[in-house]
Amino acid sequence: MIKIEKLNKIFNENKPNQFYALKDINLHIDKNEVIILKGVSGSGKSTLLSIISSFMKPTNGLVVVKGEHIAKLPDKHISNFRLNNIGFVFQSFNLFDQLTVEQNIIASLIPKEYTQEICDKKIDDVLKLINIFHKKGQTISNLSGGEKQRVAIARALVNEPDIILCDEPTAALDYDNSLIFIDIIEQLQKLGKTIVIATHDTIFNDLSIDCRVIDIKNGEI
Ligand code: ADP
Ligand code: MG
Repeated sequence: MIKIEKLNKIFNENKPNQFYALKDINLHIDKNEVIILKGVSGSGKSTLLSIISSFMKPTNGLVVVKGEHIAKLPDKHISNFRLNNIGFVFQSFNLFDQLTVEQNIIASLIPKEYTQEICDKKIDDVLKLINIFHKKGQTISNLSGGEKQRVAIARALVNEPDIILCDEPTAALDYDNSLIFIDIIEQLQKLGKTIVIATHDTIFNDLSIDCRVIDIKNGEI
């Protein structure tokens, strides 16, 4: 599903402040795997997720996602590829606080040009799946942290991507909501999704779900 070989990311290359954020990363992730990418702050987790989701280009190396060499795709194809294949759950949720749950999710469906009827069905289905349907008409600013995160997950899922990337997904959650998040991950694994979770939260240390832990340190795994 994801193949990374000899990947390097250098920030400010050939400048006095040159910095190797990722060094010679080799990583193969199979369909339906759950990967816990574990490392302290600054170890390169977000950089790696950004490259897998093609928000950022690698300096060099091979990045193949679902058979596509994404580092080589032209920009106009990248956004389309991401829309159809990758759901991203951001640490800070990145929701529009003044809009409703429904409006936040519609935003992800606009490029698809579906009919209103199809949009409505997709939104209802995903909100029910993530158990946040009862808040459909609520403004985001009225939701708790756990509820906001469920909306962020629903938005990441609405276009039915095979790959879900989560960056520090429990950082803004209390313990109970973190456990709910882990239940959702388990549910998504059963649906066949491939999931990468970047985290330094110890709650992921002994998960009951079938997952592979990868340690990242100073940009190396
Ligand atoms: P993590 O997500 O594990 O906390 P990051 O991937 O965000 O780590 O960052 C890895 C390292 O790369 C950090 O030392 C960070 O300061 C550095 N870094 C990240 N983005 C940039 C950038 N745009 N320019 C320069 N350095 C960066
Ligand atoms: Mg990070």
